[in-house]
Amino acid sequence: MADVFARCRMPDTYDLVRDLGVYPYYRAVRERPGGGEVVIDGRVLVQAGSNDYLGLSGDERVKRAATAAVRRLGTGSGGSRLSNGSLALHEELEERLAAFLRRPAVMVTSAGYLANLSLAALMAPGDAVLGDRLVHACLIDAARLGGVRLRRYRHNDLEHLERLLEATAPDAGRLIITEGMFSTSGALCDLPGLAKLARAYGARVVMDSAHDAGLLGEDGRGAAEHHGLEDAVDVQTLTFSKALGTIGGAVAGPREVIAYLRHYARPMVFTAALSPPCAAAALAALEIVAAEPERRARVRAAAARVGGELAALGYAVVPSDRPVVAVPVGDDLLCFRLWRELFDEGVFTTAMIAPGVPAGQALIRVSLTAAHTGRQLDRIGAAFAVAGRRLGLLPDSRRLP
Ligand code: PMP
Repeated sequence: MADVFARCRMPDTYDLVRDLGVYPYYRAVRERPGGGEVVIDGRVLVQAGSNDYLGLSGDERVKRAATAAVRRLGTGSGGSRLSNGSLALHEELEERLAAFLRRPAVMVTSAGYLANLSLAALMAPGDAVLGDRLVHACLIDAARLGGVRLRRYRHNDLEHLERLLEATAPDAGRLIITEGMFSTSGALCDLPGLAKLARAYGARVVMDSAHDAGLLGEDGRGAAEHHGLEDAVDVQTLTFSKALGTIGGAVAGPREVIAYLRHYARPMVFTAALSPPCAAAALAALEIVAAEPERRARVRAAAARVGGELAALGYAVVPSDRPVVAVPVGDDLLCFRLWRELFDEGVFTTAMIAPGVPAGQALIRVSLTAAHTGRQLDRIGAAFAVAGRRLGLLPDSRRLP
């Protein structure tokens, strides 16, 4: 008889990577002395891997709101929204989010992952669900939970998407799933082209704005606002774990869709509601997002500066003002080595390998935030210069010892 635990063996490369001292995951942060820094293993490093883009997780106003909510309501919600865990605070947050996003209705979930997973309730076998090759795992999982195989088109390749749309059964329900700003490539979705196709083929469009809400668009509503095409997106999902600096998620869309999800989305119905401090923190953060657009401008300037510096050093980076700078490496082990060199140089980045990115396309992700100081940004550039030369990655560099 087979033992299901027999498959719980890590690949040999796991030991190799650990032996080489380049294992980049589960590094425990002890302290966060300032927005842009972390203490790991007793060393202060520049935090260049956080999605806390606007630096709101450490904002005093947000922390005060979370603390007050704990005092008033406790630390947990005590149950699912549907049964007994709903708080007036959740409803207030939903109303504020709906007003902010200019969407008829919003459903708050306990994580961004669960917001996207809730979309499963919109799917049924026989539907044609088409997603960009780089959409996040939770959107892929939504299709699985919905009993549908997600058909993926090449990243931002609308000709490929059109071919897939053409090949769908004429009476199939059609749903296109994209991210607003892709978290792994930093690229923006080609929404103008996608919107045209969606109209032509009668497809609904879901946009995950995890990495663009609060950051893109004049008012921070995300990539669709940036493109001036909010009507082309039928349902928008968000997470609170990035620009809003806490934990939680939301689905925004037509009233009847949200009402349905509130009753039929399993990741909504069968999990405990968002905790009071997280709901209060999200609400306070939302106020700041609306009131302080300069934070968006600061992140964008930081990203443009770091992206420009890395490109000038010779990394294959396309400079932009989006908060994720993706540094392609390719090979997993080389990616881990670069991560370690950067770590040794005092910069904590994110090493991404498959399945986070397509196999063979490992990359280092640098995330910029409004909390980074000029000196911290300098340290990021300097670390990449040293690390790249040491590994012989830069065109003009002789290999350093
Ligand atoms: N969507 C995208 C694009 C993400 O990057 C993430 C988190 N990395 C999520 C959704 C899930 O959000 P959360 O962390 O709030 O569960």
